[in-house]
Amino acid sequence: MEKRFIYADNAATTAVSEEVLNAMLPHFRTSYGNASSIYELGRNAQRDVENARAKVAAAIGAEPNEIFFTSCGSESDNWAIKGTAERLGKKGKKHIITSVFEHHAVLHTTEYLEKQGFEVTYVPVDEKGLINPEDVRNVIREDTALVTIMYANNEIGTIQPIEEIAAICREKKVLFHTDAVQAVGHVEIDVHKQGIDMLSLSGHKIHAQKGIGALYVRKGIALPNLIHGGGQERGKRAGTENVPAIVGLGVAMESACKNIAEKAAVITPRRNRLIDGILQLPYTRLNGDRDKRLPGNLNISIEGIEGESLLLMLDMYGICASSGSACTSGSLDPSHVLLSIGLKHEIAHGSLRLSIEEDVTDEDVDYILEVIPKVVDRLRSMSPVWEKMMKGESYE
Ligand SMILES: *Cc1c(COP(=O)(O)O)cnc(C)c1O
Repeated sequence: MEKRFIYADNAATTAVSEEVLNAMLPHFRTSYGNASSIYELGRNAQRDVENARAKVAAAIGAEPNEIFFTSCGSESDNWAIKGTAERLGKKGKKHIITSVFEHHAVLHTTEYLEKQGFEVTYVPVDEKGLINPEDVRNVIREDTALVTIMYANNEIGTIQPIEEIAAICREKKVLFHTDAVQAVGHVEIDVHKQGIDMLSLSGHKIHAQKGIGALYVRKGIALPNLIHGGGQERGKRAGTENVPAIVGLGVAMESACKNIAEKAAVITPRRNRLIDGILQLPYTRLNGDRDKRLPGNLNISIEGIEGESLLLMLDMYGICASSGSACTSGSLDPSHVLLSIGLKHEIAHGSLRLSIEEDVTDEDVDYILEVIPKVVDRLRSMSPVWEKMMKGESYE
C-alpha cells in the first residue's frame, strides 16, 4: 500500500485556495492603500473592500450594509452575544438561551455573561444531536434578550432546524443569532428568508485565510460598537481594514456558496462509504443523525481505543483527522458535544471525526478504509480496556 497524504480535517481549517490567494496578492504590494485615504490608491482599496462586502452579503441573502468584517468567527460570536446582552441587559432583559453543544466561542461567552449577572438556559440536544425547536419555545421568557443556536455542529456535523427556531423567536419577539461557521458554503443560507437576525461566519473554514470573519446584523438592530476608534465598519469596529483578507473572504464566500448541491452530490456518497466501511468494525457507532448532517462530516466512536492514539497512527499513514474538536484535544476531558448526545466518557474518548471535501477521491476513501481497520486492530490489541471488554468484564 503506497502512503498517501489525505487532508480530512476541513472542519478544523482549510487551505487558502489559489483563487483566493491570487485575489489577495496585489493587495500586499501594489494595491496597498489605506481604505480611508483620499487618493486613488486608497479609494481603490475602499472599493475592493465594498466589493467584498457585497459578495459576502449576496452569498447569504443579506444587504451589504448588514455585513461587518471581523477578525474571526469567535469575534463575531462574541460581538453578537455580548453586544446584545449589553444593549438589552440595560432594559432588564438578562436572560439568554443557547444549546449545550455550542462551540466554545459561544459557550465561554455565555459563561462569562453568567458571571456578569445574566441567566443562561442551555437547551438540550437529543441522542442524534438535534435540537427540538419546541424546547427553545418553552424556555423563552419575558426577559429573554437573545437565542443563539449554532447552524451546524463542528464535531458531529448535525444541521439544526434553524428556520423553525428563527420563526419561534420572531413570533416571541426575541433576537436570534446563529453561529454558522460550519454551515456556510455547505448548506444554502438565506438570512432574510430564514428570519435570521445575526449570523457569524469565518474565512478559514471556507478556503480564505485564518484571522478573517464577518458578522451579519439585520438592518434595524443596533449592536453596540465593538472597537472604538476610527470610522471603519461604519464606526462599529474601528481599525484599519485588513484589505487582503477581506478581499480573500469575498472571493471565498462567492466560491463556497455557489454549487452547494453539486458539491454535496460528490461528497455525500464518499462520506457514506466511509461511514458504512468504518461501521463494519465491531463496537462502533455513528454520532449524529445520518441524514441531517453536513455532507463531508462523519464522527464515529470506536470502543476500546483512545482518540489521540488513533490520530497519531493515522498521521503516520498520512491521514489528517480529528477526535472531537481541535480546541478540546490536548485536554483529557471528553468532548462536551459527545457527552451532550449521551455518550459515556470512555466511549467519547475513542471518537474519530473526518471532514472531507471534493479533493478526497474515491481512491482516498479506499485507502482510509484500508488503514483504519488495521490501526484499530493494532490499538485494540494493546488496550487493557478492550481486553476486559472482550472478557466481558466491567471496565468502568
Ligand atoms: C471554527 C469555529 C469557530 C471559530 O472560528 P474562528 O475563525 O476560528 O475564530 C466558531 N464556531 C464554530 C462552529 C467553528 O467551527
